Formats: sequence, C-alpha cells, structure tokens
Amino acid sequence: MSMRIVVVGGVAAGMSAACRLRRLDEDADIVVLERGPHVSFANCGLPYHISGTIRDRERLLVATPELLAARYALDVRVEHEVQSIDRPAREVLVRDLRAGKEYRLSYDRLVLAPGAAAVRPPIPGADHPRVLTLRSLAEMDAILAAVGAATPQKAVVVGAGYIGLELAEALCFAGLEVTLVEALPQVLPAADPEMAVLLNHELVRNGVDLCLGTKVAAIEAQGEALAVRLSSGDEVEAGLVVLATGVRPEVALARDAGLEVGPSGGILVDGSMRTSDEAIFAAGDVAEVVDLVTGEPALVPLAGPASRQGRIAADVIAGRSSTYRGSQGTAICKVFELAIGTTGRSEKALAAAGLPHEKVYVFGGDHASYYPGASPLYLKLVFDPRDGRILGAQAVGGRGVDKRIDVLAVALRAGMTVEDLEHLELCYAPPFGRVRDPVNLAGFVAAGARRGDVALADVREVARPRPGQLVLDVRTCEEVVQGTIPGALHVPLDELRGRLGELPRDRELLVVCAVGQRGHVACRLLAQRGFACRNLSGGFALLQLWTRADRLRSETSSS
Ligand code: NAD
Repeated sequence: MSMRIVVVGGVAAGMSAACRLRRLDEDADIVVLERGPHVSFANCGLPYHISGTIRDRERLLVATPELLAARYALDVRVEHEVQSIDRPAREVLVRDLRAGKEYRLSYDRLVLAPGAAAVRPPIPGADHPRVLTLRSLAEMDAILAAVGAATPQKAVVVGAGYIGLELAEALCFAGLEVTLVEALPQVLPAADPEMAVLLNHELVRNGVDLCLGTKVAAIEAQGEALAVRLSSGDEVEAGLVVLATGVRPEVALARDAGLEVGPSGGILVDGSMRTSDEAIFAAGDVAEVVDLVTGEPALVPLAGPASRQGRIAADVIAGRSSTYRGSQGTAICKVFELAIGTTGRSEKALAAAGLPHEKVYVFGGDHASYYPGASPLYLKLVFDPRDGRILGAQAVGGRGVDKRIDVLAVALRAGMTVEDLEHLELCYAPPFGRVRDPVNLAGFVAAGARRGDVALADVREVARPRPGQLVLDVRTCEEVVQGTIPGALHVPLDELRGRLGELPRDRELLVVCAVGQRGHVACRLLAQRGFACRNLSGGFALLQLWTRADRLRSETSSS
C-alpha cells in the first residue's frame, strides 16, 4: 500500500517537501493542507509588489493547486486548517474553512511547515484595522488597499529589521511619506552597529523619517487618520501603520500534540528534520536549527534554509539518508541604492555569547577605481583569533555585496580560515572586481595579524586611548583638514621614516589612516624600528562610522 504523507503549510518548506517527495516516490499519496487561500506564493516578493516593482500580482503566485495537481499529482487543499494532531492514531483533525466542516485525515508521515507568525507588540490601539502586518498575499492586499485610501498619505513602519527596511522602501516608492520606528539604536540588528549605520543616511536621503531607539507607545484613531504616539513623546499622523517587529514560530499545534519544543522556541528536530515523534517532521521557520557558528540551538527564519529543510525531510521520508547541516543566517536586504548582506555571527552576538573573536574591515571600491562606476563597498570579516576560522561577515554597498557575502558564506560553511582567504582565486576584470578582491584583502589583513605582522587596534581604543597609548594619524595634511582625530599626533606616512625621532617609545602607537591600508604600511615600518604599535583596520572611515553609531546608542539610551 502506498504511504500517505500529510504536509501542513504550503509555502517554502512545505511545498519543497511535497514536490521533492513526489520526485522520489511516484506512488505516495501526498496531501498538502494550507489554511490560507494560496500555496507556493512568493512571500519574499510581497514588498516589491507594494512598491510597484513587480507590477503583476499574479507573478507572486509561483504555482497554483491546479498546476501542482497536474505536474506533481499533489492533493493541495487550500483553506483547510489543521486543528490538532492525534499522534497515537496518526491522524490530523482538519477544518475545511470554506465548507465549515471538520474531518479526520490519517497519515503515515506528517510534515509540519506552518512557518512563523508576525509578533504584534502589545501597543494600545494596535488592533485598529489599519494597523497591519506583512506575511501573506492577503496582508499585502490589505496594505495596498490602505495605501490607496491612506489619509494622510503617510505610513509608520514599526521595526527596522528585514521586513521593515524593505517595506519602508516599498511604501516610499508607492508615494507615501514614511516614518520608520525602531526600538534599538540601529537598523537591522543582525548587523553590527557601525555597519548598519551606513544605511541611516540612505534612508534619510530617500525621505524616510528614521526614529531609532524609539517605540510606539499608542495608536489612536483621529477621524480618517491614525495618531501614532512615540516613546520619545513625538506624535506622528499616518494613514496606516505596519508592524514589522519580528516573527515567532507557529508551534501551538506541535506543542498541543506533546512534541518537544527546543530552548529557542522552535520545534525540536534532529539532523533529519524529525521531531520527537518518529512519524512527524518539521521544517522551515517553525523548526529549531543548529547555529553553524556556535553550535547552539537557534531560530533562523529565512526562505533558503526553509526550502532546503523541506527537501531533507522529504529525502528522509522517502528512505534516503540526508542531514541538515545547520544554518548560518546568510541574508541580504536592499535599501534603496544600497544593499546590506550578512553571514554567520556578528561581532556583538559573539561578544554577548562570550566567544573569542577578532575582526578586520576592508573599505574601498567594488571594482577597479580606474574603471567607471565603481561604488564604495564596506566589508567586515569576523574570525576566531585562535585558529583563524571565519565566524561571520557583513558588507554594505551599492554593488558587489552579494558576491562578497556569498563567497564568505561558502568559506564559513567550508570551515575555512582567514589564511585560506588569502589564496582564493576570484573573478576579476576591471568592471567586476579588483586584482586584490576585498575578500582576499580581508584575508591578508586578518592572517597578517595572526602571523604577528601587524597587530590590530580596536576602534574603541582609538576613540578613547588609555594613558599609555597615543593615536598616530598618518593621513596627508589635506585629509586631516577634512576631519581631525582629537589628541592624535599627525605625521603623514610619506614623512614618517624621517620623523621617527618625534615619536614616543614609551607609549603604544595606535595608527590610523583613511581606511587602514597606509596604517598597515606605517606599522610595518614602526615595528621594524622597535615601536610598539597597532593598526586600526578600517581607519578614519571606521572611526567616523563607529562614532556615529556610538552617539546614537548613548543618545537613545539617555532619552
Ligand atoms: P526582524 O527580526 O528582522 O526585525 C524586527 C525588528 O523590529 C528589529 O529590528 C527589532 O529591534 C524591532 N522591534 C521589535 N519590537 C519593536 C517595537 N515594539 N518597536 C519598535 N521596534 C521593534 O523581523 P522582521 O523584519 O519582521 O522579519 C521577519 C523574519 O523574516 C526575519 O527574521 C528575517 O530573517 C526574515 N526576512 C528576511 C528577508 C531577507 O533576507 N531579505 C526579508 C524579509 C524577511
């Protein structure tokens, strides 16, 4: 007799499991139960329809139940919600939402892929019909309708994570004035503050009113408009409010059925995506995964991992051996003309976990400076100073962010070290890259530090040097006029060899240039002449970014 597999949830993880199962087993009876009206829709594309970039709504419907029936012989039942799981009987209780009827459906294997629900913070007035979230096509339609009717033509987006940033851009493109309210002193908490701060100007430049370190205290209907009261005491008038304050795995069904939930709050699964019940699998945003960097349990609600987890559950159900190898949180987000990409753990996450880490910065153009159109690229590489293992990377820029983060994501997964990065042979021609790609350069700097060629200074020390330290600024006079470093001794690099006598030998020199490259050269000279010195990778550019981020942190914590 053929096996019946019931899949709960018909988006990334669920549909990937169902389609893969069919490809592996032509005889299986595969039923997909989805409480919403659509399966297989492009939920990552929703902001881009709101913006008008994806004009045709139909393009978001990647596959219909009819197509899935014809091509994969899947029994897809939309608007069918699973109410409970009877594990001893291996049955689910299903409610047909259209007919208003309930029925029981038996399974041999059950795949739970119900995803995650938007978190709605307990804000007074947040139950107003024009306070919305964005997880489904229906919610996207509601936002579009609210945009059309918005009086005034203003929106407040709460939360500046991935969805909040994408929505802020989308609503601007849709013609609204946007206020973006974020509780933390930075946007995109997955990134470190001195990298995320690069996005602030881009948002403001495009007309977004950015309120960091701010929460929404209350929302009140005032005629057609909504009055959004902020924790800062300010009040913003808006035609609609969208909450993008994170997601929580939909574990109620699993928990009620007695399945184990892990410490992160997701369904506990083993490497084959099997839950604590051998007949039940879980995949996607609902499942707890192992963080590839720390080995700790984690929630990583991203489409790529969800799709791969669904595929692995299908493999195992079909009798193949297949193991999920952990998540590293590789993600990228477009913010107007910029992109921010991350993989692995941030410096602040590693510091909070008490794990050893060191970092380097490479700032420069995305391709050869002499070829037209190069745009600035900011790359940060985080690594373990003990063995050189890559722990994370972040990049911000107009072009080439995805390429660098993808290379580093592969390097991280392969367990490569910063020394390995020195040897990577990457695509190069002037329109595309640099002879020494930023990824190679990050490897040179980090590996050089590990070899003891040039020790690294931390930006916090440069901002606030201790009594035994002196900041040595080796930029040109023209550069220093653009921005000085208080208390620093200024000796341009090209004069350094002749002016060594001016430098103290009883203090450690923290060397700063524009982005760290000339500081590196200066440190090699100084170290060979017996000076104690360290270089600030990222240089003055980093100092400025860090100072801006630090000012935001202290201003918002004191307000
Ligand atoms: P998120 O976790 O990325 O961001 C939520 C943000 O809301 C955080 O910055 C948080 O500090 C802030 N916040 C929380 N409570 C708040 C409050 N009361 N007031 C103000 N700010 C508050 O979550 P999200 O943006 O909702 O996205 C959900 C998930 O979807 C993410 O985990 C992300 O991985 C995924 N996603 C990824 C992409 C992408 O990779 N491009 C795009 C969309 C969504």
